[in-house]
Amino acid sequence: MPGSAVSAARKVVCGLLDLIFPDDCRVCQQPLHEVSRIPVCSSCLAAPKLFQAEFYCVACRTPFVNAAPLDEHGLCSLCRLGVNGFEEVYAFGAYEGTLRKLIHAFKFEGVQTLSRPLGRFLAQVLPRDLAFDLIVPMPLHWRRRWQRGFNQAELLAREIARRWNAPVERVVRRKKATAPQAGLTSAQRRKNVSGAFEVKRGKRLDGKRVLLIDDVLTTGATASACARALKRAGAAHVTLLTLARRDRRAPIEFAITAASAGSGS
Ligand SMILES: [Zn+2]
Ligand SMILES: [Zn+2]
Repeated sequence: MPGSAVSAARKVVCGLLDLIFPDDCRVCQQPLHEVSRIPVCSSCLAAPKLFQAEFYCVACRTPFVNAAPLDEHGLCSLCRLGVNGFEEVYAFGAYEGTLRKLIHAFKFEGVQTLSRPLGRFLAQVLPRDLAFDLIVPMPLHWRRRWQRGFNQAELLAREIARRWNAPVERVVRRKKATAPQAGLTSAQRRKNVSGAFEVKRGKRLDGKRVLLIDDVLTTGATASACARALKRAGAAHVTLLTLARRDRRAPIEFAITAASAGSGS
């Protein structure tokens, strides 16, 4: 076969392969050497590290710069006042660097195959001995779900469901398309999402232990509103599990302002 025909054929094959396997890592842009369903290199998949903080609330695990915001039981003011609808939080890493890029590729670029490695991160941080009656993915408003084509939290929930042997149940509905939370204070965020969630009609969760899954935890306002809806339907205990949390190392005044404003809504 003439050389030009070989190279033409190779071009066609490479073109087809490129369609299936993009040749650069979606995170670091380096060429990928292995054929994989996940268009991210192995070093980027290994890069995210567990969140570390010296001072943090024992319940919501919000990190602080020192122990001042914590009471003698190790609780922050939000947890002390019962503002959070959930009992405890497990978050894998800080929402920055490679983890942030992985979440962006998963959520906004539609790389759904990332649910497997991201699910492994979640599994690393959730204690093995915890048991749940059901796993609830943080719902998207139907319009957002329709635009994106999938709910990232649901894909993550399925990964955890396999390992923790509990069913994924989409029991919560997001009835209000809330304004974007970015740029709002913690108190404004709580107001923005209050009343945004409800458990589907006729569904009771009396005495159930629920694992609520979301991708990113910012102030906890959205997760709190969702957890409160679960509690209104009878849930006894809500554990929140997220891939990442924003590390604000919030000063004490900030937490108190948020708590007093939040408790009014
Ligand atoms: Zn990479
Ligand atoms: Zn707390």
